[in-house]
Amino acid sequence: MTSSSAPRTSDIPLQFVKGVGPVRAAALARLGVKSPHDFLHWLPRCHYDRGEVRPIARLREGEAATIWGTVRRIGEKRTRTGKHQFIAEIGDESGRIECIWWNQRFLRTVFAEGDTVIVTGKVERYGRLQMSPADFEVITSEEYEAIHAVGMVPAYRPVEGAGRKAIRRIAWTIVNEFAPLVEDSLAPNHRGLMPLPEALRAAHFPENAEQLAKARERLAYDELFALQVEIAARRRVAEQARVGRALRISDHLDNRIRLRFPFKLTRAQDRVIRDLRRELAGGRPMSRLLQGDVGSGKTLVAAYAVLAAVGNKAQAAVMAPTEILAEQHVRTFTKMLAGSRVRIAFLGGGTKSKGRLETLKQIAAGDVDLVIGTHAVIQKDVVFRELALVVIDEQQKFGVMQRAALQKKGKGPHVLVITATPIPRTLAMTLYGDLDVSVLDELPPGRKPVHTRALPPSKRAEAIRFVRTKLREGRQAYFVFPLIDESDKVAALAATKEQERLLAELAPFKVALLHGRMTGAEKDAVMAEFRAGRASVLVSTLVVEVGIDVPNATVMVVGDAERYGLAPLHQLRGRIGRGVHEGHCLVMAEPGNERIAELCATSDGFKIAEADLRLRGPGEIHGTRQSGLPEFRVADLVRDQKLLLWAREDSRRQSYDGAR
Ligand code: ADP
Ligand code: MG
Repeated sequence: MTSSSAPRTSDIPLQFVKGVGPVRAAALARLGVKSPHDFLHWLPRCHYDRGEVRPIARLREGEAATIWGTVRRIGEKRTRTGKHQFIAEIGDESGRIECIWWNQRFLRTVFAEGDTVIVTGKVERYGRLQMSPADFEVITSEEYEAIHAVGMVPAYRPVEGAGRKAIRRIAWTIVNEFAPLVEDSLAPNHRGLMPLPEALRAAHFPENAEQLAKARERLAYDELFALQVEIAARRRVAEQARVGRALRISDHLDNRIRLRFPFKLTRAQDRVIRDLRRELAGGRPMSRLLQGDVGSGKTLVAAYAVLAAVGNKAQAAVMAPTEILAEQHVRTFTKMLAGSRVRIAFLGGGTKSKGRLETLKQIAAGDVDLVIGTHAVIQKDVVFRELALVVIDEQQKFGVMQRAALQKKGKGPHVLVITATPIPRTLAMTLYGDLDVSVLDELPPGRKPVHTRALPPSKRAEAIRFVRTKLREGRQAYFVFPLIDESDKVAALAATKEQERLLAELAPFKVALLHGRMTGAEKDAVMAEFRAGRASVLVSTLVVEVGIDVPNATVMVVGDAERYGLAPLHQLRGRIGRGVHEGHCLVMAEPGNERIAELCATSDGFKIAEADLRLRGPGEIHGTRQSGLPEFRVADLVRDQKLLLWAREDSRRQSYDGAR
């Protein structure tokens, strides 16, 4: 049901279309446009809305307008500051106006008195009214009227050896000759979408903005539908190929696991854990995405799955994006499993040579039950004896390839993928469309929202005073800065330098330093100090962005906050307010930053994610290629949420039909 068009439109070489010829065909081919079919889907970069042509006498100061008339007089001038002016006086039946171009000498070869021209531009007043053209065209034949002049005029990306009018004329020919031949795969009036031939025509030459929007809607739907079909297929293949090992989770085991939890579960945790239990016990391997705002207690849910796996004498692996976080998980699991026979191994980038080889041997022999580590876990030489469960924490920091690599270490292992950055529903459906989704929509009891305040850098002293008050109350604080060391190239605050300053300013409180260039052992030592409260302040880079959990730390100061995206800022804020004490996030930035205003306005991670998507666009957020997020020509995951839902429903209906 994907948009297939009649073979003719894709078979005919572009070269034989009127107005193209071999040279232009070659230039278009370099842009990936090889047939009329390609051209129909090669959409204009934008449309100039020339609107109605206006009689010159009715132009008003300050507006943008389009006029159509005859060149009455041409002149050139040089201003006192040495700039060149090209002036064309244009007249129609109602009046005349001067159009002025700056520093475009070549125009003298373009215009001649007596030419018919169409000019779009801003009307300004310098004594008299004049126009400063944004766009113009010399009209040489009547055929131009419809396509270059009035209403919505398409503008294409530049093509070597072909002017924009030539390209527009080719587009006009192709749309007229080939769009009507395109077969529509959708039933007429399906969900009120525009028929494909009409949409292709209107995407190039719409009559008005509304029609253009309808055309884009149809084409976006097709793109999203194709993607959903692909995701559904991927999912089916994965399901069939995988064996999966059912984990037996008796009430006895369930109880034993729960007894190891240090807290009473939140209702949300309990609900998700019940889902996991059912799924892990079923014959099919689980593939589940666990979402939940920072601090919602996702680790405990993962722990349930891990303990269920090791309780079944199978192996489990937990992968986290940073060593600090992986080490923290080792500590959490070690504590939780104290007194049990579960053997835990750590694999990090720094785990080298002899120790590493020994660990690998134990993993392969099944002498290790739980492997926790960084991406070191997916290296080739890591072989499991029987890997039944894979957990990927902070999946947004990994790519789909890495998920697949870890998955392949077992025979159809259960997979639990955790994201802390809540992803908007549309993105989740696209990026993780092959996964089921569970949401922890509740924070553990007693949490108070973090107070977030933006302070300009000039108020640094105020921030320091505030931190000092909190330190005196026995709390701890983070300071985060963009750089490790000062740099000549980047004007941004550096952690090492700031630590020195803060040591003096916050004495006698101890100020520790943590950054990504330290060795694993050094990082461990610093984190241990901070966790134990021996250091009151931790100065760091973005390495503390995800996962770190030190509940007594209640203040987060972010230096040069403009440099961070909304999602990382929310993550940083998530480091605090994790215990019984209220959290305070001080965002140091010049006023007027949209992201920071958004951060201060809401504490809900899902709203933050939507805003982030809106402000930055999906590609930016998830690093298009490596995350597996497709690039769309027309579809827009922010704007087209409704279409995505339709496409998903329709694709599922189709695959059921296909199965029958
Ligand atoms: P995240 O979802 O961000 O990974 P964590 O799993 O690190 O969150 O949990 C955040 C904090 O909340 C930790 O200090 C954890 O010990 C605590 N926590 C988790 N679950 C509960 C609970 N049910 N009751 C009280 N505290 C909890
Ligand atoms: Mg976490």
